[in-house]
Parts: sequence; C-alpha cells; structure tokens
Amino acid sequence: MADQITEDLLEGISLYFHVPFCQKKCHYCDFLSFPVDPKIYDFYPYFDALYRECEARLAKLQNGSKMLHSLYVGGGTPSLVPVEYYSKLWTLLHRYFSSEACVSAENTFEANPESVTIESLKALRSMGFNRISLGIQSLNPQVLERMGRVHTVKTAFQAAGFAKTVFENVNCDFIVGYEANPYDILDPLLRFIRIFQPEHLSVYPLEIHPDTVLGKEGGDWPNVTAKDSYPGSVFLPLQDLLRSEGYRHYEVSSYARPGCFSIHNLRYWNNADYLGMGLSAGGHIKTTRYVNTSEWEKYVCANDDCAIPEPSYYSENDTIDEIRETLFMGFRTAEGIDLNRLARSHPMLDIRSFLNQFCHEEPFVIQNNRLRLEGESFFYNYEALEKAMDICDRYFTE
Ligand code: SF4
Repeated sequence: MADQITEDLLEGISLYFHVPFCQKKCHYCDFLSFPVDPKIYDFYPYFDALYRECEARLAKLQNGSKMLHSLYVGGGTPSLVPVEYYSKLWTLLHRYFSSEACVSAENTFEANPESVTIESLKALRSMGFNRISLGIQSLNPQVLERMGRVHTVKTAFQAAGFAKTVFENVNCDFIVGYEANPYDILDPLLRFIRIFQPEHLSVYPLEIHPDTVLGKEGGDWPNVTAKDSYPGSVFLPLQDLLRSEGYRHYEVSSYARPGCFSIHNLRYWNNADYLGMGLSAGGHIKTTRYVNTSEWEKYVCANDDCAIPEPSYYSENDTIDEIRETLFMGFRTAEGIDLNRLARSHPMLDIRSFLNQFCHEEPFVIQNNRLRLEGESFFYNYEALEKAMDICDRYFTE
C-alpha cells in the first residue's frame, strides 16, 4: 500500500493480465469482452495462450526490471473463471520473481459481485492476491437494470462483505451519470462506505459509446454528454462527501484512504514500465509502447515459437512522444508531474525553458518541483490536456 509515489516505486515492473470473459455484456460496455456461460465454456485455450505469452515476455525481462511492484488481473470478469487458472499463473510468476517480490507487490484481482463466494476469495487470497476490485457500479436497482448488470444491490452488499472479510485492501468501482440528481448517488454511497469502509473507490463518469446497447438505443443523456458541466454537478458534491469520509482524491477518478493509493495505477499515471498480457492488452517498457492484437484467432493460435502475437500497435517512442505521454497521464493526478524525474529521464531536455512555456498559462501550476493542474482543474479537464499537448508540440517544433 502507498500514499505517495516514490522514486523506488517507479522502478521495476508491473504486470497486467486481461481476462476477456463476462457472463453478459453490460449495456454501456465497450471493453473487449465476450459473454460466455462459465458452466460449459472451455477457458483453457485462452489461458494456455496467456501462460505462453507470460513466459515469453517475462523471459525477455532484464534483471533490473525483475523488481515486481504490482500485478493486476482485470477484464472482463476475471472472477467468472475457475480460480485454478490463476493458480497456474502464480506458478509461472514464482519462476521469474522471488517469493518476497510476489508477496510484497500489490496484486489486484478484479471481480464482479455475482461471481464471488467467500471460498473463491479465500482461494485467491491464499494464492497471493492481496487487493480486490469489485465492480459495484451502482446501488440503485433500477440503474443496475438499465446498465444491464447481472448483480443486484443485495448481491453487491453481500460481495462487499465477503471482500472485506478476506482482503485487507478493497476497491469498489462505481459509474455515475444515470441519475439526474447527484443526491440519488450520494446518499446510498454514503451508507455503503460507512458500512464497508472500502480502502479505495474508483468513480467513473458514464460514457455512451455508439456500439453499445445504450449507444444504439439513442436516448437523452443530459448528464453524460455535457462533459463540461458534468464534473461540477456530480463530481464536486461527490468529492466533498468522500473527503469528509476520510478519502483523498488523488487522481481524477480515484479516492483512497491514507496509505491506500493504487500502486498499479500510480505507475500507469507516472508512465512507468508495465507488461500487458492477453487479448488487446497494452504495455510500456522503456520507450516501447505496444498493444496486443484483439483478434481471437491470432492471439489464441500463437504457437510456442511465436508466443507473443503480432501487436496491433507498436511504437518506439522518441523523446517527444515520451514527454507527451508523461504529461498526458501525469495531469490526471492531483500531484501532477515530477519534474526531477522528467529531467532525469530526458537529459537532453532543457527543462527550464520547457517549463517556461507553462509558467504563465492557466490552469498550470509549478510548485514543489511538480507541474500540475491547479486546484480542481484536474477533474476531467479535456481542454487543459489539449492545451498542454499544444504547448508541448509548439515547443518541440519551433
Ligand atoms: S462486466 Fe465489465 S467488462 Fe464485462 S460487460 Fe460488464 S462492464 Fe464490460
């Protein structure tokens, strides 16, 4: 667990494993996931390909990268898959990382309320997962139905109780945007967090994507489409509420109790190294960025000689790409971008003259060796991000 990012936490490596199976497709979802019936579906071909990719990628890691800081099994609905599949993954990981590294890393498992039992959670905990992320999404029965979620409010409460019994570090995901009145979200949420005291909450705005059930339905979503007004109407009361309950708002969608920031996500936002494995998973190692194929046949049929399938995206980033990415991700966080680290990572950059470009521009602030968005500006501030990218591009092209 952490409550600030240290230099040491940004060294080494993180791992992400994508599990693209769900019981049913949620109405808002545009992630890569397939509905399957877990009682009859054969998960083996996919996991076999995932194990092969994992072995191949870990075998290529340099010694210095073998410091494991976090792993994250996400999806999809990883909890839909029998726990034995994850046990084999851990066997592989123990071959490449020390037991101490495996135990001390932040190891998150993503689960949905309908597919966890106290026994499955205990099995996952004893394998090495020490953090669970539960997709609760809403505490309103009508909204859950509208979202096309499988679980009910009762199942969500039950799963949160199981999670808190077994895990010392629990995240709960919520989506807001269905309710016109923010207090329809805030009151049940307050009750929930007072009962379960989750260590971490992730709260995302509902987005309507054209290829989803909601996108095809059309309909009027005044809270969702007006991106500029959304943070003010819903997220500011939400932020007040969560702060008053002891949470720190440390990233645009993330709230944590002291000491419980997500190490895995902090590493993404600080442009650290991670390997993404599985269908459509992406990774960033030094200056390389890649995204795996999202074509089932190509992924599952990769053979032993070519366990890492042809990526759908691959880039050897130059300095400008890396700086752009560092800024783009870093502005999501309340603390912003660590300027010492930026200067160290890019010794050719004249950091003073680069920062001069931001000095007199709103809403950028340079303070305590960090460049960040001022005050509440880091709330879904697409304009500020565009402005930062423009400044960056101008600086490097002039
Ligand atoms: S459970 Fe998650 S990944 Fe699966 S369909 Fe719903 S939102 Fe998408």
